[in-house]
Amino acid sequence: MKRIYLDHNATAPINSDVLKTMLPYFDQKFGNASSVHSFGRETSEAIAKAREQVASLLGAEPANIVFTSGGTESDNFAVKGIAYANEKKGKHIITSQIEHHAVLNTCQFLEKRGFEVTYLKVDKYGKVDLDQLRDSIRKDTIIITVMHANNEIGTIQDIDEIGRIAAEKGVYFHTDAVQSCGKIPVDVVKSGVTLLSMSAHKIYGPKGVGALYIKKGTRILPLQHGGHHESNRRAGTENVPGIVGLGKACELAQKSMEGNERKLVDLRDRLQSQLVERIEDTIVNGHPTDRLPNTLNMCFRYVEGESMIMMLDMKGVAVSSGSACTSGSLDPSHVLLAIGLSHEVAHGSLRFSLGVENTREDMDYVAEVLPEIVQRLRKMSALT
Ligand code: PLP
Repeated sequence: MKRIYLDHNATAPINSDVLKTMLPYFDQKFGNASSVHSFGRETSEAIAKAREQVASLLGAEPANIVFTSGGTESDNFAVKGIAYANEKKGKHIITSQIEHHAVLNTCQFLEKRGFEVTYLKVDKYGKVDLDQLRDSIRKDTIIITVMHANNEIGTIQDIDEIGRIAAEKGVYFHTDAVQSCGKIPVDVVKSGVTLLSMSAHKIYGPKGVGALYIKKGTRILPLQHGGHHESNRRAGTENVPGIVGLGKACELAQKSMEGNERKLVDLRDRLQSQLVERIEDTIVNGHPTDRLPNTLNMCFRYVEGESMIMMLDMKGVAVSSGSACTSGSLDPSHVLLAIGLSHEVAHGSLRFSLGVENTREDMDYVAEVLPEIVQRLRKMSALT
């Protein structure tokens, strides 16, 4: 049976050129990048090159990139690092209701330690309420953390405007760009962001490595203490193969972004229009246009997302409902509730997140098998 992978927002397969670039750094070029001998120089040069590749994708200076273990660490570093370095100025944080749990749970952790957090509402498309943002900024606000693109519904926020508002008020602005980096243009200077999180495994790079952009002059405390790695911002011997892989993935993403965007929008819209046409009582979630090119989130009324996932899996199709981190829990997605869906409707959601290896035939196959699955489940459902 052919297997069709449509869960790229959870993780993407590694690109073969990325893998090839990484391999020598496991055995032949294994030096510790802090060592002064040639083995060390070889790896420290590789890290410097990767730093340039990441910086180039973000429009940043290489010196402002810190390598981390991925999006989760970058988010924790940004929010806790700013909170603890600036608590004398204030203890107020602004975020949105639809952030990834790497940000939401970090904010909740800080709330238990005396910080105050405002959770901005979003509209039915998942766009943050900018008026509420302006009204929420106080004298003691130290950071605004709002994601660039949502992992579940794909809605893209106007980070240029949020950056302007933050700069006007002299507040740091962090954006979680784990889902947008490499998929759509990101420019830290144009957006006026102070901090930006990204991760390699969402853009055909390896798992367990990412980066945090930190604007020069930002007051931030490191989370990890130890050696002088990453200019004293993140201690620990560098994951050289991972960092080299992240750099290569960024280089490839930058080169192929426009072509990939066009291809993915075409595939996504082909799937969306066929599903909407063939299945009654569906809702397409997320913004109609300001949406990640690869993301389609739909609710199918009167059925459970989990049952559809299992039946699609038996047909060789891998999708998810909500985010991978919340599946396994019976709570409906906090993102779908925030855009105003009822618990019952939110339970019937599926996320199709496409990747560059997908084809039109893949879309047509899903559009052929899913209507039958929904029909069967609806016949069995107590909700119909
Ligand atoms: N932020 C967003 C928006 C994500 O989608 C993810 C991963 O799903 C993360 C953060 C966490 O990234 P990582 O898996 O690299 O820790």
